[in-house]
Amino acid sequence: MDTAVSHLVDVYPYLPFSPERGEGPYLYAGKRRVLDLYGGHAVAALGYADPDVMHTLNEQARALFFASNAVMLEVRERAARKLAAFAQPGLDKVFFANSGAEANENALRLACRHTGRSKIVAVEHAFHGRTAAAAAVTWNSGKWFGFPRTPFDVEFVPRNDVAAVERAVDERTAAVIVEPVQGQAGAFDLAPAFVIALADACRQQGALFIADEVQSGMGRCGAPFAIDLYGVRPDLLTVAKSLAAGFPCSALLMTDELAGGLKHGDLGTTFGGGPLAAALISTVLDVIQRDRLIENVRVLSELIRAAMPRGPVTAVQGRGFLLGLRCKRPAREVLKDLLDRDILVGTSGDPAVIRLLPPLNLGREHVDQLLEALADLD
Ligand code: PLP
Repeated sequence: MDTAVSHLVDVYPYLPFSPERGEGPYLYAGKRRVLDLYGGHAVAALGYADPDVMHTLNEQARALFFASNAVMLEVRERAARKLAAFAQPGLDKVFFANSGAEANENALRLACRHTGRSKIVAVEHAFHGRTAAAAAVTWNSGKWFGFPRTPFDVEFVPRNDVAAVERAVDERTAAVIVEPVQGQAGAFDLAPAFVIALADACRQQGALFIADEVQSGMGRCGAPFAIDLYGVRPDLLTVAKSLAAGFPCSALLMTDELAGGLKHGDLGTTFGGGPLAAALISTVLDVIQRDRLIENVRVLSELIRAAMPRGPVTAVQGRGFLLGLRCKRPAREVLKDLLDRDILVGTSGDPAVIRLLPPLNLGREHVDQLLEALADLD
């Protein structure tokens, strides 16, 4: 391949291999077969070329490739029904969009409109996306946020600081937005007392509680959504990445009450909830349930956790298959050493943490392969 004359805007640093195809948890690049424990940032929930995903994609593409939101689609209704059933009771209404940032953008807009307030409370080290509102609640967003001002006031609270929550969430607060397990920050799982304090403060002050499950959702954390592990129910929940196992789409789930306040035209998008995305969302949910993948995640995650410390890894954070392995040397070096052994992991915002975001249908043999490789390193 002639890369000397790329016409792509150069904004992504590349890994030193270029896959041509994927199957199961493996990516193939020439003669190389790489075990992908990163899944393109938590996207490849069922690995590559999953037979159910391929079947649905083919069938739906032949039946109806696209139709807009100007028509009722049974396939879209079915996806919404299944997604609402997968989430906690009370999150009964679904708006489909295209990306994690877009789902968050709409959640934040809805919160400001519903409450008539103009302040959002977010958590330090959070990542919520690169559009205006999503970037405004992203920690250190100077890196992405190119607009002259934020669309609302933002206050960040330090992670796990319950007293700061009580100070920050007040009668001006429209919403609190939180990733229960902070993905980009290195799969940092927030303390239950902190997440519960955020939810309680929202109830007391009449603010909305938004769970950003763009990375942590769809069974990845060992429950349908990570927030379920904390025993609290958000008013709004966003999900993307694994939602259709690689087909680009996102969803915003909300309570009946919030949905009831919306009228025609209040939310909208051209591609959101298209038939291909909708059909694939249903299939992903069916496969997760049929193959008991949440249980698989829990068991294999525990196996990884129990095998640490090992090689360069000193500690583990995160939940399920959103794991951060803290290393005694730079994560970039460990990534390179593992890639030399044909295992792909991710880095994170924390320079000492490598991230594991493997497919939910990973096998025990793949975990063994990782553990052997880590034991081989120092
Ligand atoms: N929220 C979280 C927690 C994320 O991890 C991401 C992406 O990494 C986003 C939002 C933004 O999603 P997207 O890149 O699909 O806009």
